Amino acid sequence: MEFLSPTTLADALAARAEHPGAVAIMGGTDVMVELNFDRHRPPALLDLTRVEELATWDRVGDEVRLGAGVTYTRVVEELAVELPGLALASRTVGSPQIRNRGTVGGNLGAASPAGDAHPALLAAFAEVELSSLDGARRVPAHEFYTGPKKHAGRPEELVTAVWVRAATGPQQFSKIGTRNAMVIAVAAFGLALHPERQGVGTGIGSAAPTPRRATDAEAFLAAELDWEHRRDVPPDVATEFGRLVAAAASPIDDVRGTAAYRRHALAVMARRCLGWAWTDHQREAA
Ligand SMILES: Cc1cc2nc3c(=O)[nH]c(=O)nc-3n(C[C@H](O)[C@H](O)[C@H](O)COP(=O)(O)OP(=O)(O)OC[C@H]3O[C@@H](n4cnc5c(N)ncnc54)[C@H](O)[C@@H]3O)c2cc1C
Repeated sequence: MEFLSPTTLADALAARAEHPGAVAIMGGTDVMVELNFDRHRPPALLDLTRVEELATWDRVGDEVRLGAGVTYTRVVEELAVELPGLALASRTVGSPQIRNRGTVGGNLGAASPAGDAHPALLAAFAEVELSSLDGARRVPAHEFYTGPKKHAGRPEELVTAVWVRAATGPQQFSKIGTRNAMVIAVAAFGLALHPERQGVGTGIGSAAPTPRRATDAEAFLAAELDWEHRRDVPPDVATEFGRLVAAAASPIDDVRGTAAYRRHALAVMARRCLGWAWTDHQREAA
């Protein structure tokens, strides 16, 4: 197996164009499992760990440009203020070892419906930066996931970053698994409040062929919340929000849980996230 190890982004993109069969590898926490189980034997690996441009994040105006090679540990330690939803989700990923190696770019590259970064990125209206020798383009997260473990990146492209507006309001993330740690989500939910536009963002994980937003639930809640006076959310509004989130999912029965349980769990997580986020929003005003 050939091992390509570029040290600059330009060289990485050139290698991507030259070796269409090469599998990109960042933290390797997904790729190495595939190789170890002999599920996949690619002709070449394209190692991206030496490409410094991928391993940095920057504040650009009111957005954060998060390089694809930034690990979960760094998101937790360095970006909890700007990207609170993603930081909360990152805390739940695997173990310290996995968080030290695993990256948000790798989660996007794998595009698993159960990936924990996705609900937070969807809720924050993030955009994925895809680059090739022809340049870079930005794809809204909700258009990035195209099928189970499939995404909108072309063979000659790499995920180079994700762009997320720095939070303007509270964000929450909730995940249900069969145990407390080192667990693939049975279902997950991300919520972001965007008070400056009186908007609501949501992200559903592990309960549809792709991560997805619950757009009817977002529109309903945005219209019902008392943005001006921040009065308590009426219980029937929270219940309806949970119902609409659950209705937006299309889960399956599998070894981790039943479709019915996943829908129930989503309704509960949506109500809880709303309660936590709205309480934070009320406290900010106090
Ligand atoms: C024990 C264990 C526990 C785990 N727990 C969780 C968990 O709780 N939550 C969770 O979401 N995931 C979990 N994972 C899965 C994995 O850690 C994550 O998906 C992680 O984000 C992968 O990042 P990585 O950098 O290691 O990716 P890699 O393994 O390097 O790559 C993952 C995929 O993305 C592609 N890729 C990598 N970089 C790029 C790029 N720049 N452009 C295009 N494609 C690219 C690769 O070709 C591959 O298909 C776990 C894995 C293990 C082994």
